[in-house]
Amino acid sequence: MKLIQVSNCYKVYKNGTTAIADLNVTIDKGEFVFVIGSTGSGKSTFIKMLYREEKPTKGDVIVGGINVARLRNSKVYKLRRKLGVVFQDFKLLPKLTVYENVAFALESLGMEAKEIRPRVLKAIENVGLKEKTRNFPNQLSGGEQQRVAIARAIVNNPKLLICDEPTGNLDPDTSKEIMKILEKINQELGTTIIMATHDKEIVNRMKKRVIVFENGVLAADHLKGSYKAHESIKNSK
Ligand code: ADP
Repeated sequence: MKLIQVSNCYKVYKNGTTAIADLNVTIDKGEFVFVIGSTGSGKSTFIKMLYREEKPTKGDVIVGGINVARLRNSKVYKLRRKLGVVFQDFKLLPKLTVYENVAFALESLGMEAKEIRPRVLKAIENVGLKEKTRNFPNQLSGGEQQRVAIARAIVNNPKLLICDEPTGNLDPDTSKEIMKILEKINQELGTTIIMATHDKEIVNRMKKRVIVFENGVLAADHLKGSYKAHESIKNSK
C-alpha cells in the first residue's frame, strides 16, 4: 500500500533555484528508505515537502492521502499529526524534562493528561530511556538527546517517521545505537521511515532501499539490499 506518492514534482525557490525537478517516486507503507546525495542535491527540500515545511511549485506530493501541494496553511496540522520528524540537532526544549519534552507533543494536540501519561512512558521505554525520564536535556549525552527526540516523534504513533541527518552530530557507536532503535521502530511498530544521511557506513550496513539525488533529480533508486556505496557519497558535508 502506498504511503507517499510524488508525481511530476518541481520545487523552485523564490530566488530561481530549482531544488527538485520532475520527481516521481512512491514509497509503500512500512518501508525504510535512505535518501542520499551530495550537499545541495535536494535531499532536504524533498524531505521538507513531505511535512509541508516547503510547498511544491508544481506537481503532487501525496502523503497518507493528503496532497501536500494543495493543503492550506490552516490544515497543515492534519498532515503533521500523521508524521514525526527527527532533526540532526535534536531540537529539545531545554527547560523541560525528558518526560515533558515527549508529553508536549501530545499536549499540543489537546490530548488529556490521563491519556498522555501511558503513551509517553511507552515511547520513552521504546527508545530505552526509562531511567532518564526526569532528566533535563543538558544532563544527557548527544545520543540520549536524540533518543528523546525519537520518542517525541513516535509518541503519537505516526505512520511516517522522517529523519533528517539524525546521526549527523553523533559518533559512530552512538549512531549505531540510534540506527538500532530506528530499525526496531520500523519492524515492530510498522512505522515507515525516511532518512536523509551522509553516512555511507550506515547506508552500506543496513541494506535498505536507497534513493539518490543529484542536482535536484532522482538519479537512482536502489531496491532494498541492492545498494553498494560508491565514491559519490561523502561522509562529511
Ligand atoms: P541538500 O539537502 O541535499 O543539501 P537542499 O535541498 O538543501 O539540498 O538544496 C537544494 C538546492 O536548493 C541547493 O542549490 C540549495 O542552495 C537550494 N536551496 C535550499 N533551500 C533554499 C532556499 N530556502 N532558498 C533558495 N534556495 C534554496
